[in-house]
Amino acid sequence: MIQLYVPLNFMGFVYREIKLAVADLEAMFRLLEQSPEIQDRPDARPLVVTGGTIRFENVRFAYDPERQILKDVSFEAPAGKTVAIVGPSGAGKSTISRLLFRFYDVQSGRITIDGQDIRAVTQTSLRDAIGMVPQDTVLFNDTVRYNIRYGRWDATDEEVERAAELAQIDGFIRLLPKGYETEVGERGLKLSGGEKQRVAIARTILKGPPLLILDEATSALDSATEKDIQDALETVSRGRTTIVIAHRLSTIVAADEILVLEAGEIVERGSHSDLMAKGGLYASLWNRQREADQARETLARVGEAA
Ligand code: ADP
Ligand code: MG
Repeated sequence: MIQLYVPLNFMGFVYREIKLAVADLEAMFRLLEQSPEIQDRPDARPLVVTGGTIRFENVRFAYDPERQILKDVSFEAPAGKTVAIVGPSGAGKSTISRLLFRFYDVQSGRITIDGQDIRAVTQTSLRDAIGMVPQDTVLFNDTVRYNIRYGRWDATDEEVERAAELAQIDGFIRLLPKGYETEVGERGLKLSGGEKQRVAIARTILKGPPLLILDEATSALDSATEKDIQDALETVSRGRTTIVIAHRLSTIVAADEILVLEAGEIVERGSHSDLMAKGGLYASLWNRQREADQARETLARVGEAA
């Protein structure tokens, strides 16, 4: 028994180590914006962004063959417009952003930017053209300044700080013990989800890409933070083609078109008022969220009164 116990326990240890290493690797690939499976074609050319129109044409995708995630998804984000994607958790919303960034290739159909299939262009040029503000930003174990400058290495200190101002995070940074030189990340100061997202927005403002993908955090933020993030998102998306995976009503209402994704299919699309009038899935998601917001506000008021 003892002999058996020891190796099993040891295996458990090794397994945990491996899992940790894999988690680190995933974080690293995300940070380096690279994916091992995707290769440039020998004849790949740089992407040429003219207006910045994004099209998904009959896109199908599965992470593993048994389970189809996206089923015949088609939509267009016209140059400079904002398309919001809403829908239940697990519907495939973040998958759409991963495909546009080409972390994976589509199984059938195609994704184009200004008419160019993203599989025919170099990954570097594709990723240079897209700013991605993910749901969960992973920060480098380095200073705040480094983390923002990652958006554009040749940016001056003034440009870094101006981007932070536009992202509504400059005031917060200045109150930190070492300001912009404060070490953050897993081994430094841990920032909240909202703070990390604003660092990511500052990074994206600095990068200044023509195309944007924003994956809003699902977790409820306090209303001051929500307002700050909303303002920051508006600043960064102005004049850029934007696909936003939206959870906040203020974002959704302002979008040029809303796509409602359910189990990998677009089941409704239109403007906020079109979809409300329809009284379908969108209207019920919206009403449910409004009730949740009202309940939170009531709770907050009760808290203040007590
Ligand atoms: P959403 O953003 O709408 O919540 P996702 O696009 O993240 O949904 O995920 C859609 C589905 O794909 C989910 O069922 C999820 O579990 C699955 N999925 C996401 N990433 C992977 C992956 N790397 N490998 C396998 N399945 C995945
Ligand atoms: Mg998601």
